[in-house]
Amino acid sequence: MNKSFVLGVDIGATWVRVAIADYSGNITTKDKEPIDTSSNWGVSNQIEKTTRKLCQRLDYDPKNLSGIGIASAGPMNRKEGKLVSPSNIPLEEVPLADPLEKSFDTKVELINDGVSAVLAESEYGAGVDYDNLVYITISTGIGGGVIMDDHLLIGKNGNAAEVGHFTIDEEGKLKCGCGRRGHWEAYCSGSNIPRFVRKKLEDVDLKGQNSPLVENKRKDFQDFRPRDLFEYAKQGDELALDLVEEIGRLNAVGFATVTEAYDPELITVGGGVALNNPELILEPIKEKISNYTQNEVPRIKITPLKEENVLYGAIARALTLFKNQDQR
Ligand SMILES: [Zn+2]
Repeated sequence: MNKSFVLGVDIGATWVRVAIADYSGNITTKDKEPIDTSSNWGVSNQIEKTTRKLCQRLDYDPKNLSGIGIASAGPMNRKEGKLVSPSNIPLEEVPLADPLEKSFDTKVELINDGVSAVLAESEYGAGVDYDNLVYITISTGIGGGVIMDDHLLIGKNGNAAEVGHFTIDEEGKLKCGCGRRGHWEAYCSGSNIPRFVRKKLEDVDLKGQNSPLVENKRKDFQDFRPRDLFEYAKQGDELALDLVEEIGRLNAVGFATVTEAYDPELITVGGGVALNNPELILEPIKEKISNYTQNEVPRIKITPLKEENVLYGAIARALTLFKNQDQR
């Protein structure tokens, strides 16, 4: 019986997902927990505990794990295996590789979640037949991963393709989570769409309009969520549709910049905002992208791997670690 496994971990803003997979990349068992941000060591402790629990389920000695791949939002110092002031986690530093290497006596590699997702797309998803592939997530934040000429881009610190921090507004009307102004993510990500709507409607006289956004403006957009905007648009509210269209135009600027930089054949799209509103997010991008890029427009589609793409990428990376060990 093949008793050899690797571990994949996806650290998100809300959840930590941990999965044990076999050498073909099939998940054998998995679990997810709300992220522990009580201290710098909270996340690594949590991964260790969950891993021991999953191994117990399989009656498997965790010391036999053949590699651990961890994917997380950045920024990170990949060589030191830690997150450094991550934009979605309220901690200054999150050490990951060292404590887990010590606990399980195996190689650990930390990669950016966008990098992980594009790797998953290439190994198991819509990108299997492509050498030039970009993945873009439109979620709490906006991130990306790039494979060019069949080569995974990683970068000096592991932060290649941080596309959400492309500057799309030279006037810098809105401030990004990273502290800088005018970044794509500050306008079109899940956490910032409410601020974008508030800004757009700031000086607009809504008198006489019967849009549900009038009431939201009266309450200064308290408790207003991106899903409310998309829900109003789906119900045919004109004002909401205009705002969704404007978000689509800004997304098209972002996708066009990605197309200029990497000349991909395919861009796959994931993340909660896109997965929950595939037409309202993708259609305006497809319609407007050629206004902003001179390069041939790539195919654009939703990732078939849905919300598990980052986890599958982490598993693929752990398998690479194992295979490299094997060759030594
Ligand atoms: Zn930024």
